[in-house]
Amino acid sequence: MTTLAPSKLAMVPFVSVEHMMKIVNTIGPAKMIAEIAAYIEADFLRWEQFDKTPRVAAHSDEGVIELMPTSDGETYGFKYVNGHPANMARGFQTVTAFGVLARVDNGYPVLLSEMTVLTALRTAATSAVAAKYLAPKGATTMAMIGNGAQCEFQALAFQEVIGIDTVRLYDIDPDATAKAARNLESTGLQIVTCGSAQEAVTGAEIITTCTADKQYATILTDNMVGAGQHINAIGGDCPGKTELHRDILLRSDIFVEYPPQTRIEGEIQQLDDDHPVTELWKVIAGKAEGRRDASQITLFDSVGFATEDFSALRYVRDQLEDTGHFTLLDMLADPDDPRDLFGMVKRAS
Ligand code: NAD
Repeated sequence: MTTLAPSKLAMVPFVSVEHMMKIVNTIGPAKMIAEIAAYIEADFLRWEQFDKTPRVAAHSDEGVIELMPTSDGETYGFKYVNGHPANMARGFQTVTAFGVLARVDNGYPVLLSEMTVLTALRTAATSAVAAKYLAPKGATTMAMIGNGAQCEFQALAFQEVIGIDTVRLYDIDPDATAKAARNLESTGLQIVTCGSAQEAVTGAEIITTCTADKQYATILTDNMVGAGQHINAIGGDCPGKTELHRDILLRSDIFVEYPPQTRIEGEIQQLDDDHPVTELWKVIAGKAEGRRDASQITLFDSVGFATEDFSALRYVRDQLEDTGHFTLLDMLADPDDPRDLFGMVKRAS
């Protein structure tokens, strides 16, 4: 845990967007994703220690606002996150977020952080952790369908952790693809821009779908997926919001974060409630099999789970002292006599 001077204990370190960008650029985005991936993997390994619940979602016609809480008994964390697919056309982000870590023993927050950038980093890191166990060995090429806010983070994660050297980009909006190609220019990745999803998946051992649409979309049809491919499905993460044709699910071995949440939100909402899925943490812990053979189709049905945000926040907290990129927020009323809250207010007048 970050050690701050005792006089500052009632002050809460706050990592703003500006701080987060400085942290990312100090460490380097690819290295930071790989380091967050290690925290995520470590927390998956102690999965049973965590309080777990499907996230609490408030749906509207335009999108969803969610709270994602968890605790390991010592530290509590939650993320506030929205998902509004129509936002991009209105000039807003589809996904924005912030999060908190707190001490379980006295309930005091110990970190408040922006999580819009951090969510992109942790989502990419989680995808890479899953692919480590599920993607075909020696994979070099990834198709990246949906070239919005998450796209470049995913590409970097797969380059850094999995070792891909080629990304095949496709988005219905060519401007999004051009943006992603530009941003990935100096990464050493070979970038291929494609005119269709079908073209993008050609020759790719890994397919990432990362589109945003509040509907049962069909980004991939059954004929587009071949033996041995790994699908990293990111964008289907809400009731009524999926990306894959159901027939693909029926041919795949499906891996999920937390089944009670994924059954509501993931691609598997299209399947019967008892359709077999494997929990990712069990694969990481060696309690369940990941990829068995070269012809198997593996699907990581990602929706994003609270422990991944907890891991990412834990990572950020551990960078505070080294990087110094935070401010202290006076957000906890902390009178000298804990019972004299009113007196503290009165004296301030
Ligand atoms: P974004 O709005 O920035 O980008 C989405 C992109 O998808 C846009 O460029 C859009 O043009 C493209 N698109 C839409 N329909 C398409 C189609 N049929 N074919 C090809 N491209 C299409 O959104 P984002 O922040 O990049 O997020 C992408 C998705 O990932 C969202 O649905 C979001 O909810 C989800 N997400 C999931 C997780 C997770 O943990 N699983 C985390 C963050 C975001």
